[in-house]
Amino acid sequence: METSTITTFPTPTSTEATPVAALGAAARRKWVYEFAEGNGRDKMLLGGKGANLCEMTKIGLNVPPGFVITTEACLAFLDSEQRQLPDGVMDEVRHYMASLEQKTGQKFGGADDPLLVSVRSGSAMSMPGMMDTILNLGLNETTLAALIRHTGNERFGYDAYRRFIQLFGKVALGVPDALFDEQFDAVKTKAGVKVDVGLSPDDLRDIGKRFLAVVQAHTRRAFPDDPYEQLEIAIKAVFNSWMGKRAIDYRREFGITPAMANGTAVNVVAMVFGNMGNDSATGVGFTRNPATGENLIYGEYLVNAQGEDVVAGIRTPKPIQEMEREMPMMYRQLIDLRSKLERHYREVQDFEFTIERGTLYCLQTRNGKMNAASMVRTSVEMHDEGLLKREEAITRVNPAHLEQMLFPRLDPQHKSQPLAVGLPASPGAASGQAVFDADRAEALGKKGVKVILVREETKPEDIHGFFAAQGILTSRGGKTSHAAVVARGMGKPCVAGAEGIHVDVQMRVAFVGDQVIKEGDVVTIDGSNGHVFRGEVPTVEADFSPSLVRLLEWADQHARMGVRANADTPEDAERAVRYGARGIGLCRTERMFNAPDRLPIVIDMIVANTADERREVIDRLLPIQRADFIGMFRAMAPHPVTIRLLDPPIHEFLPTERQLEEDIARLHDLRRTARGIEVLVESARTVADARATAAIAELADTRAIDAIITRKEAVLRKACALREVNPMLGHRGVRLGITYPEIYTMQVRAVLEAAADCVRAGVEVHPEIMVPQVCTAQELKLVRGYLAAVQSQVELMYGVQVPCRFGTMVEVVRACMRAENLAEVAEFFSFGTNDLTQATFSFSREDAENKFLPMYNERGILQDNPFEVLDVKGVGRLMSLAVEWGRKSRPDLKVGICGEHGGHPSSIRFCDSIGLDYVSCSAPRVPIARLAAAHATIQGSQGVDRSA
Ligand code: PEP
Ligand code: MG
Repeated sequence: METSTITTFPTPTSTEATPVAALGAAARRKWVYEFAEGNGRDKMLLGGKGANLCEMTKIGLNVPPGFVITTEACLAFLDSEQRQLPDGVMDEVRHYMASLEQKTGQKFGGADDPLLVSVRSGSAMSMPGMMDTILNLGLNETTLAALIRHTGNERFGYDAYRRFIQLFGKVALGVPDALFDEQFDAVKTKAGVKVDVGLSPDDLRDIGKRFLAVVQAHTRRAFPDDPYEQLEIAIKAVFNSWMGKRAIDYRREFGITPAMANGTAVNVVAMVFGNMGNDSATGVGFTRNPATGENLIYGEYLVNAQGEDVVAGIRTPKPIQEMEREMPMMYRQLIDLRSKLERHYREVQDFEFTIERGTLYCLQTRNGKMNAASMVRTSVEMHDEGLLKREEAITRVNPAHLEQMLFPRLDPQHKSQPLAVGLPASPGAASGQAVFDADRAEALGKKGVKVILVREETKPEDIHGFFAAQGILTSRGGKTSHAAVVARGMGKPCVAGAEGIHVDVQMRVAFVGDQVIKEGDVVTIDGSNGHVFRGEVPTVEADFSPSLVRLLEWADQHARMGVRANADTPEDAERAVRYGARGIGLCRTERMFNAPDRLPIVIDMIVANTADERREVIDRLLPIQRADFIGMFRAMAPHPVTIRLLDPPIHEFLPTERQLEEDIARLHDLRRTARGIEVLVESARTVADARATAAIAELADTRAIDAIITRKEAVLRKACALREVNPMLGHRGVRLGITYPEIYTMQVRAVLEAAADCVRAGVEVHPEIMVPQVCTAQELKLVRGYLAAVQSQVELMYGVQVPCRFGTMVEVVRACMRAENLAEVAEFFSFGTNDLTQATFSFSREDAENKFLPMYNERGILQDNPFEVLDVKGVGRLMSLAVEWGRKSRPDLKVGICGEHGGHPSSIRFCDSIGLDYVSCSAPRVPIARLAAAHATIQGSQGVDRSA
């Protein structure tokens, strides 16, 4: 840290707040820094406001003179038994007040031209409005008279005094605002005026007197007259406000830890007045428009007003551009201030200014808070203007914030209260009529009606409902549940596991507490925070701006890791390309089976009793899969496409046993009714004509019903036979490939034939076949055997060489432990961190997130949801071992990640730090991942916490 040698006081040498209690009485510290001597980068010691005031003073901006009392003094004060200022603080304050008097030519408490000061809070992290500030300090009967004499402005003097008494009374003496307001209103009524500006100097003097009486009555003490007593009380009050409820709540809400901000500094600044006439003004400005990023000064000002009038909304401020006409000289100075601030800070600034009788002062500056779109635009433009280096432009934008630009979101101005809250499972916001099953969603969707599919949980057979819906809402399941993963893949908003909602599919209603959502009622979901609303809440569209495109191109040039997409269909692949994916890291082939026209074939395949029967059905699937793969390879050429062989337990493709039993029971009822119709046929013969009788007879024909019953019963038998207690740990993944080799063989053939077709057409392809749920090299060898056999046949058949890599998912703990062996067979690894997290914690990925995980997070047992933020210490450790061991036997082993964490910025940084080659995530998250991958390269492993 830079230290100052200007003063006689010793200077602390660390930027960290030292535990003050440990300092000991002997240590003589420097508690106060004049603006000209403080280190503008030492925000921990001087607070953000104080540090910037020092910095601005040093670069020659017109800042009113003043000094900062350090956060260390605050901590020592709060630590002391009776909240006493540490020894020496007031001595130093007096020393610097004398210097202030010298600079301003005024005297604190003086009877001629009195010095007044503001006493402002300011910690290392900006906490707007959370702590206290006192203005016009130093006023009493004597200085007031002097002020009026000196300025020749009675109104101004009395106004300043009454403001001071109220602020000081409230902040430092704890007098409720309401007591002052009562008196203020009484005077206004007496004077017959509605607005403050209508009050005469006498009215204001009267108000001051009444306020003094309020303080006396409430505190049973006279208002302190002595300016130094006022100053000491004010300093203590501001220090105390660090531990006020507002500030504590704010720090908790925004996760501000002592390492980020510890205690508040106090800034004592010579007052300048914007309310000294029409050549005075006060205002706030942004160096660029914070809503759009446009390179134009933005802000508001008020002529002849004090800063608090702007904040309190007492008068309506004017847009800053009007100043150009109203105060042209001042406007030019303001524009000059703006460019000096930006050139120095190389960041958009949010600043406060006051004009006192034609002199412009800058009272405060800090980095402007902006939305994602303006961060991106200003990054690109500030780079083009030479203010930022490329790396700085890239790292300035938080990847997670890009979500705002990539998905529609609720209008930030909306005031609706959520009806229920679930997990934010797939970002974006959407409104539509609630529908409770996929068929209805599809039917309405086809008619152009906007719908939200509301289910207890979704299953693969609901896929057509996903296509039709604007968004998905489930009352069960976590962030890696079927609904969440599918919605993310499609870029549709999803709120999952909203357990407060009870869905009754039969009655076509959902209950939320005592409220009922009927089918057709409009609901809005916000998949970015899990909120569910009744009715339509307005949304703001996604904004893939030209600036974002440029920023992401720069990111790609800097990132070491590649970014791929998880995509399951040719359409997904095309979308992934538009988002900038360079390859597909995971194609879940089971998703291809779910299309309504394919599911019956898949069910036939499952119900088949022999391998021959199964092969016959599989032959019907082969051309369908091949066509899909051709579509994907073409969309993604020349980048690699990783195709995962069938993974889920196959019973997932069948309806549930309960559903089947209900269907069969209903069919039996129908058959009984049909039988009843036979009686009707007999009677019809005697009374109706032949055509009518034939039509009725047709209704009595039970053969079609019998055929369906037979089929449903066969499916039910199969569903019972496949039933498992723990299907996620059961007959799935490579285990399926081993028990039903014909299924995997068909898939491998479809991939290779599709690749051969592309090669023949001159399309560059890089297929990668990936095996799920592997725990031993033996499993992999078996599947590689299928590949070898099919590859030679396909190459012979098509007369071309088909490039193909063979690899494995690593999503089982044993796979990590046996990485060295697996890598002897696999040419690449892809971490399936959804399952690997489940397996490492033994937490069900379907249930944990809305059962006990929230409590784990609240109680601090786990800091994050491990299904969202990669658990670096456990799962990450396994990954890092697997990478190291895998590369021992195959140094060029390619390693990626395709679990949901592949789209999460801090997880991406970790992946970079252990040497992964790429990350893969759902297409709409690809831009976030591209930026995060660039951050990881530029910032290295700084910030990756691997401690146990
Ligand atoms: C995983 O487990 O991380 C993975 C990508 O596979 P799935 O989510 O399909 O189980
Ligand atoms: Mg998995």
